[in-house]
Amino acid sequence: MTLKFAIPNKGRLSERTVQILNHAGLEIEGADERKLYTNVRNLSVMFLRASDIVRFVHKGAVDVGVTGKDIVLESGLDVKTVYELDFGHCRLSIAAPEGSGFDSVDDIKDGTVVATSFPNLTQKYFERLGKQVEITKISGAAEVTPHLGVADIISDLVSSGSTLKMNHLKEIAVITNSQAVVIANHESYKHRREEIDELVSAMRSVMDAENKKYLMADVPTVALDEVRKYFPGIAGPTVMNIAGREDVVAVHVVIDKDQVYDAIIRLKRLGASGILITPIDRMVP
Ligand code: AMP
Repeated sequence: MTLKFAIPNKGRLSERTVQILNHAGLEIEGADERKLYTNVRNLSVMFLRASDIVRFVHKGAVDVGVTGKDIVLESGLDVKTVYELDFGHCRLSIAAPEGSGFDSVDDIKDGTVVATSFPNLTQKYFERLGKQVEITKISGAAEVTPHLGVADIISDLVSSGSTLKMNHLKEIAVITNSQAVVIANHESYKHRREEIDELVSAMRSVMDAENKKYLMADVPTVALDEVRKYFPGIAGPTVMNIAGREDVVAVHVVIDKDQVYDAIIRLKRLGASGILITPIDRMVP
């Protein structure tokens, strides 16, 4: 039986999810409007709205899915969060019009009208603070509601903050942080854990590799100790003899992307030549 795997069909989480899966060797191409599902290996990949995915995973209609942590928390549904994907970072925040006198949550009084598409999380937040606000549920574009006189303040997702600024709103408190997550149906995770973990591990190996480069260089044998000291590497550099050469060895090592510049300078000073830097598609420990 195939594992039913739901990924966002459009929106902010879609492109990166498809990119990671493609780099993991699961060629699912880009999701277009018409495509609803595709089969690859043991997976039946379905393209759904990020906001529907949590419900379908909860029901067991799909086994595993990618969606936003904010959506999972708002739904209140009990699903297994298998992995945090480290993209789609944002936060659900309270924001108020500049100059409105709302400078912190202390300024929010009972009866304040809050527009949001996250009524549950927002309600709970204010309940925890012991405040009785009035929540106006909207399905998007919360930023315009204070200017329309529909709400006093908003609770909305923020990443860079530029949309708030553009709409003359000021962030005054964070309700919760979010990022893309892999979620699974509890029963599916119980019975098909190995397959789900394999899928997560494939995605993870792509993301780990993105921050790394593979460096190859011919190094004078006399400089080998210095090179070893400089590159503790993941399991230390791999050193290979070069046929017919006693004075030079080939060194291969995985390094962080941001180490590349300094590493080349250092290696050249030690007399290295033939330095090659290549990308890594996946890193499987
Ligand atoms: P979509 O509505 O399909 O574009 O997906 C929205 C999801 O993208 C949200 O639920 C968040 O998990 C994530 N996201 C990341 N940054 C932002 C942002 N600045 N605004 C809205 N959603 C964001």
